[in-house]
Amino acid sequence: MKKRSLTDLRKEIDGINLSILDLLSKRGEFVQEIGFLKAEKGMETFNPTREAEMLEGILKKNRGPYSNDSIKKLFKHIFEASMTLIEEEVHKEFLFSRKSKADNSVIELSGSVKIGAGKPVIMAGPCSVESLGQMEKIGSYLSSCGVKIMRGGAFKPRTSPYTFQGLRKKGLEILREIADKYDLRIITEVMDPRHLDMVAEYADILQIGARNMYNYELLKELGRVKTPVMLKRGFMSTLQEFLYSAEYILSRGNGNVILCERGIRTFERWTRNTLDISAIPILKNESHLPVIVDISHALGRTDVAIPIAKAALAAGADGIMVETHYNPAIALSDGDQQLSLPEFRGLLKEIGMLNEDGIDLM
Ligand code: PEP
Ligand code: MN
Repeated sequence: MKKRSLTDLRKEIDGINLSILDLLSKRGEFVQEIGFLKAEKGMETFNPTREAEMLEGILKKNRGPYSNDSIKKLFKHIFEASMTLIEEEVHKEFLFSRKSKADNSVIELSGSVKIGAGKPVIMAGPCSVESLGQMEKIGSYLSSCGVKIMRGGAFKPRTSPYTFQGLRKKGLEILREIADKYDLRIITEVMDPRHLDMVAEYADILQIGARNMYNYELLKELGRVKTPVMLKRGFMSTLQEFLYSAEYILSRGNGNVILCERGIRTFERWTRNTLDISAIPILKNESHLPVIVDISHALGRTDVAIPIAKAALAAGADGIMVETHYNPAIALSDGDQQLSLPEFRGLLKEIGMLNEDGIDLM
């Protein structure tokens, strides 16, 4: 047999490459169709059984010269690329996605307070609303530091049913009274759909706590009010699950959603949770929604609050949530992680929000 020249062989290979590409494109089109069918039916994109069956069938027909191992690797790459194709196609449809909205979402509160507009915001206040006197001391101090958004729980999700559960409606009334007196906006938690309308009457931002990130009925209800919502990441949830929960609110008609990274549960015990710093730029890349970092619940301690606040801002956070109390030692909840008021002021200075003379730069 006449030996073929290198040029001829290369031409053959070039032709085969194009045929493979053509087949891959055809395969990709079928994959997209399957992706849409699965999304419609609410089925999981990845089906490991189907993948194993396909591989088995392919390897049975392998006539060489490539080893089964090499063929397996090649097809694994094809399967992976197909998975990405489906994810990208389906994700285009998600309202949280940068693919559906390229520009950053900015949440506007009364008094031209903006979240996600470039300047970081501070949400500060005690873990729980305890009394009018307590909130008076804290609210006046926050306002003197230039803080615009005050936090405080009236409905408290406590791990033990025997600990302080919050002042409920009375707590909301106190929050509003102090906020109005000192020109502050309020962020406070709503835990139950039955309380939503009442909390929305008092709050400027509704907080959904980590424990309720999976409470889909509550998330759906939030779609029906227009009040901005800050959704906290569940302590055992992936970023995808987190964003899907945001989608519940967005898809029901409330576009004012803020994401909050507040640490996830790991084996580490020297912090209450582990702040997932990588979540910040990833969420900012994947989504147009503002991202706030709650350093208090992430840490459960105060001594490293400053470097962690700096790290969160350096990673691209749109703001910081931090717990502060006029006397953390007597706080009815989360005493260990609340900064004293002077410590809070020190943190503001360190992160560049108060200048040397104590003038606020917010
Ligand atoms: C809170 O901010 O009051 C709170 C309970 O936080 P988390 O839901 O993140 O635990
Ligand atoms: Mn707390």
